[in-house]
Amino acid sequence: MENKESIISIKNLEMSYGNKKVLKGINLEIPRGQIIGYIGANGAGKSTTIKIMLGILSGYTGTVEILGKDISTGGVEYKKKIGYVPELADIYENLTAYEYISFIGGVYGIEENKLMTKAEKLMDLFGIKDAFKSRISSYSKGMKQKLLIICSLIHNPDILFFDEPLSGLDANSVMVFKEIMDSLAKEGKTIFYSSHIMDVVEKVSDRILLLNDGQIVADGSFEELKNNQKEGSLEEIFNQLTGFNEHTSIAKDFVSLVEEV
Ligand code: ATP
Repeated sequence: MENKESIISIKNLEMSYGNKKVLKGINLEIPRGQIIGYIGANGAGKSTTIKIMLGILSGYTGTVEILGKDISTGGVEYKKKIGYVPELADIYENLTAYEYISFIGGVYGIEENKLMTKAEKLMDLFGIKDAFKSRISSYSKGMKQKLLIICSLIHNPDILFFDEPLSGLDANSVMVFKEIMDSLAKEGKTIFYSSHIMDVVEKVSDRILLLNDGQIVADGSFEELKNNQKEGSLEEIFNQLTGFNEHTSIAKDFVSLVEEV
């Protein structure tokens, strides 16, 4: 039965690159206020799914509805309600954060003074305010990541797509970010969280989706997934559901080759 409350509704989504079929029929209903942990092996198609939802990738079949509208026919208005932290960002290194945020504010049509006051306060909370008017090229990895997180949230979107958002963040910042995600979800934001850091996914997600061989092979809370499998941690469940048990032999062969001169 169709869930009228779905913020994201995906039906029979398929996507190929050339002859290679990456997504083989994804069906998903995501209600408001959920943190979705989206996991899968390297190359499984997680970023592809996210880019389709963002309207960056076309050429798929099936339907993707966001906030009740088919994104292939419903115009770009929905993009104002979306925030995105990409896995690999093409950030404009020659700009300062001030200039970059000003550019983003222009795209979203946010009044400049209000935007800059908000941006500066957010940067202050992340401990990077002093770099507000420095070129992004001078930032450390973690500082760039913090700026990307701020940019994804500056327009107060309803849906967040976070693709490996903790990349480069120190342990203290990770704690802050996890709390932020939790609070955002409590405020009714929907968060699509894609990561390989299984212990974090296990802890932060209300619902975990595992993509394998182009299909969702597990969908439920961590407790539900655990009850269905014999193994305990999400890492072990991941190994089991993706049919992987060769880590010891691969590591052994790898080191043997390294030592061969
Ligand atoms: P990772 O965990 O490594 O980031 P992912 O699950 O996000 O992987 P995708 O980036 O969606 O995976 O890629 C899925 C598959 O599609 C991979 O096999 C990749 O090589 C292929 N692919 C992705 N983008 C393209 C492209 N533009 N052209 C051709 N093949 C592509």
